[in-house]
Amino acid sequence: MRMIDMIKQGAAVAADKAQQAVELTKLAARVHSKKKHLEANLTKIGEAVYRAYQSRNLPSAEPLISRLSKENEAIEAEIQALEEKMRQLRQQQVCRCGASAPLTAVYCPRCGVPFASQRIIVESAPRPAAIDERDKEGGL
Ligand SMILES: [Zn+2]
Repeated sequence: MRMIDMIKQGAAVAADKAQQAVELTKLAARVHSKKKHLEANLTKIGEAVYRAYQSRNLPSAEPLISRLSKENEAIEAEIQALEEKMRQLRQQQVCRCGASAPLTAVYCPRCGVPFASQRIIVESAPRPAAIDERDKEGGL
């Protein structure tokens, strides 16, 4: 490779890394603000329960608790999606124990389970019967 091409490629890689860092910072900020919203809702739920207790009418808090809990479930799903994007940007994989590791990792750094065996389990788990049927057809 010519020197000028090597320099160009190096600059392109650096630009990609910078872009990735910017994107990760944005995603982290969104996760942070969603977690704040989640915590604020939990505080409101706690206040609602306490006020209802004080008025000796716990069921009166239920509508607010339900609304805020549903909101929090949606927020949690959004946080998971954002964290998944961050892992993809960092090129990480997640073990079923919850630990993150680089895509190149063969074993989970926390529980030691091989990532390859987990992918097989995850891929074959949803439709084992369908896969068996296909195998039989293929054999004929
Ligand atoms: Zn693990």
